[in-house]
Amino acid sequence: MKILVINTGSSSIKYKLFDMDRHQVLASGLAEKIGETSGELKHAVFDAGGQTRDLKRPGFIPDHNAGLIRIVDLLLDPEWGVIARKSDIAAVGHRVVHGGETFQAPTRIDEAVLNAVRKHTPLAPLHNPPNLTGINVALSIFPDAPQVAVFDTAFHQTMPPRAFLYALPYELYEREGVRRYGFHGTSHAYVAEIFARHVNRPLEGLDLITIHLGNGASMAALKNGKCVDTTMGMTPLEGLVMGTRCGDTDPALPFFLADHLGMSLKEIDGLLNKASGLKGICGANDMREVLHKRDAGDPRAQTALDIYCYRIKKYIGAYYAVLGRLDGLVFTAGIGENSPEIRMRCCDGLDRLGIKVDPVKNTGARNGILDIGCRDQAVTILVVPTDEEFKIAQETIRVLESSYGNTG
Ligand code: ADP
Repeated sequence: MKILVINTGSSSIKYKLFDMDRHQVLASGLAEKIGETSGELKHAVFDAGGQTRDLKRPGFIPDHNAGLIRIVDLLLDPEWGVIARKSDIAAVGHRVVHGGETFQAPTRIDEAVLNAVRKHTPLAPLHNPPNLTGINVALSIFPDAPQVAVFDTAFHQTMPPRAFLYALPYELYEREGVRRYGFHGTSHAYVAEIFARHVNRPLEGLDLITIHLGNGASMAALKNGKCVDTTMGMTPLEGLVMGTRCGDTDPALPFFLADHLGMSLKEIDGLLNKASGLKGICGANDMREVLHKRDAGDPRAQTALDIYCYRIKKYIGAYYAVLGRLDGLVFTAGIGENSPEIRMRCCDGLDRLGIKVDPVKNTGARNGILDIGCRDQAVTILVVPTDEEFKIAQETIRVLESSYGNTG
């Protein structure tokens, strides 16, 4: 069964085509800078041995519809294609950022689902509109293929009110949906499942802390495999220090910036989301660059690393207290998967909690999952490469099987 996974942004469409029977990626790529003169299609084809052939095709892509048509043309291309006909694609899975409280699980897309996603646009004004565009374009290009929405927020919907409510007037929650939602849910869910499989225990019996450290970063506490707390909030700005986002700050900070510096709401939004985090402290948002700067003796880069790791460690402690016990800690995404130093520093001094990274295992060659905890400690610490697109493809199949089951 071939599943196309689509992640649509305001000026891009990322895609991955999976052969789920063979657990193989057939092709992946993106249409980027849609609507700009410097538009480009990037396409990679994978063979069964994992070898890649890459194509870059610059050219103006007027809109998302044209972008997806060109992607499909490439998938069918005699030289660069991987399918013979459009109908080879059994279903399309879409990443949708915000499902509000409506969606607690991946859902087959119909008119009611589209309306509900539209309704949640005020909660994710930058993400839900392009996600909807992607769905509408895919519905017109693949009218016969079932389409499934997989929400970033859904995994966190099991949080109890004490974790998801802010101490604000309750009407704001009731009327406007102001609460913690959490994001990266597909990644947290995926790495937790891989952890359970790796230790050969049912996820339903495991207490875990999952740590997703990419450009955006978030953590989740899982009790018996279900999310009970997460660091991101109503928006992805809250929680950990990120590449350009500040994470937790004093909520009164915007008033100070407005009153004393005369900043507008738009400027404050830009400052907190795009000019803060690692970038705000040391001028670099890419962790590799931060590490290089630190190695070259830049004290600000050292400070940025200190704050970054301290915040993660603080949340490990908080989530340990929330869970009362811990089976595992999972590091994932670009930084979590690739930086032994950050992993070591986040766990530094937590031996009393049964959390201790083995320095040799931590720097071992990684080809898939890496088990980096000391053997005599209670908590298993794994590095698990995340694969949100594969998880979306898996969920797409799961939804279709259950909906066929329901109707059949
Ligand atoms: P995104 O959230 O955009 O998907 P990724 O999960 O790809 O991001 O993570 C990007 C981050 O991972 C960047 O900060 C990058 O510097 C970092 N990263 C990638 N490789 C390494 C490495 N070897 N060491 C440290 N950081 C790394």
